Amino acid sequence: MDQTLPLSALQHYLYCPRQCALIHVEKVWEENRFTAEGRLLHLRADSGATGRRGGIAEDRSVPLRSDRLGLYGVADVVELRPGPDGRERPYPVEYKRGSPKVEDWDRVQLCAQAMCLEEMLGVTIPEGAIFYGKPRRRERVVFEKVLRVLVEKACGDMHAMIEGGEVPPAEVGKRCRGCSLAGACMPGASARVESYLLKGLE
Ligand code: SF4
Repeated sequence: MDQTLPLSALQHYLYCPRQCALIHVEKVWEENRFTAEGRLLHLRADSGATGRRGGIAEDRSVPLRSDRLGLYGVADVVELRPGPDGRERPYPVEYKRGSPKVEDWDRVQLCAQAMCLEEMLGVTIPEGAIFYGKPRRRERVVFEKVLRVLVEKACGDMHAMIEGGEVPPAEVGKRCRGCSLAGACMPGASARVESYLLKGLE
């Protein structure tokens, strides 16, 4: 891979490859309510504190990097939990503003964080968790082989798209309703036409 991309690019790619390309190939960015709320939730997790919660040690805003996956970023929280051999093992926890999704997007992103930590620390990380704002609860994520394969494939495809300067065509779907780049994606459509198109998907 020619370049190292932010973990947020993988998040955008998993949501919609065109959205990722608009940001990383066309260099477009817009903020809407969803990204603003997500940023506030992350700011709460990104306090930079190191301490203990419920008897478990944790580090916040942990820098991540994987040369193999071509990724860099920051983990919201990495807890240090005792493994079966009694030694502390990293346990990444990601904060999300919304509710658990049917799609694998969030789990793939968390697994990518774990794979960065594995490469950096030379350890195996079997699981982590995602904290959802609605409802306020944690979902445990086991980093199984199938999830790891999804991370490798998504990273490979994303790098090929961005390094090739490719911007896929728009495919209107339900995800477009919450998309921060709907205006830039469909510049020819007026707000009313856009809203009409998206309402038809409800
Ligand atoms: S509006 Fe829809 S197709 Fe366009 S970038 Fe957003 S999610 Fe993708």
